[in-house]
Amino acid sequence: MGRIAYVDGRYLPHQQAAVRVEDRGFQFADGVYEVIAVRRGRPVDEDDHLDRLDRSLRELRMPWPMSRRALRLVMRETIRRNHLGAFGALYLQVTRGAAPRSHAFPATAKQTVVMTARPLSLPTAESLGCGIGVVTVADIRWKRCDVKSVSLLATVLGKQVAVEAGCYEAWMVDEQGLITEGTASNAWIVTAGGELVTRRADTAILNGITRMATIGIARAAGLRFVERPFSVAEAKGAAEAFITSTTSMIRPVIRIDGVAVGSGRPGGTTVRLVDWYLDHVEAEGRTV
Ligand code: PMP
Repeated sequence: MGRIAYVDGRYLPHQQAAVRVEDRGFQFADGVYEVIAVRRGRPVDEDDHLDRLDRSLRELRMPWPMSRRALRLVMRETIRRNHLGAFGALYLQVTRGAAPRSHAFPATAKQTVVMTARPLSLPTAESLGCGIGVVTVADIRWKRCDVKSVSLLATVLGKQVAVEAGCYEAWMVDEQGLITEGTASNAWIVTAGGELVTRRADTAILNGITRMATIGIARAAGLRFVERPFSVAEAKGAAEAFITSTTSMIRPVIRIDGVAVGSGRPGGTTVRLVDWYLDHVEAEGRTV
């Protein structure tokens, strides 16, 4: 069954779906996006994703291209037409539209809205629980990483370094030697004392929806949690480490730059968080 993309009011087979050559998303990365997990046809943490989209749009001085209610309907229709089955991901992009190439905002341009969706195999405790390796790279991004913009070149280059090193993810490091986040995930450690640590959601990182869900889960479970930056050396010496993201969910980090974290095996706290997060996704897949 062919995949269907939504582009500016129309549902089209992927081969026919296209945006204009002077779309500002294409020429200036002048756009924002969201990636939303879909469990049993239902978007996971939908309101949080739409709140973050609202924030990204506002920070770039873009209006909503349609009402929030209309966007939710298009999301559901895109999900329905792509037959995601048990699990999948929805991609949503809004740009400032197509206009003759000139940096300043166009006086009149209709915003471009694109949505695509694809089925994914449903992650399990086993598939998530086997640990991953990460490499560290310099964080060479701009100073508004809190905005989920489609300007992703620095993270594209970082992820490629990870792939070439046989790793799953790259952790980016700021000028103070502190880890900001992964190229497409948030970074966490668990200290020897059992405290969960992740960087505060300021302008240096994207406030991940999975990050926020994990904070909620950790609090509800009575785990000790603190928001503060940590260095590469602290992460390498931590008891446990893990990443969080919509499509990767929660995955234990067992190696950083080839150095084993803790015992070199997935940590107990992380494995419990994986189970609880899977329960959260199940519950989201049952909401009406
Ligand atoms: N940081 C960056 C840079 C990302 O690209 C992502 C994934 N979009 C995340 C963190 C995790 O965010 P979320 O949990 O909302 O997927």
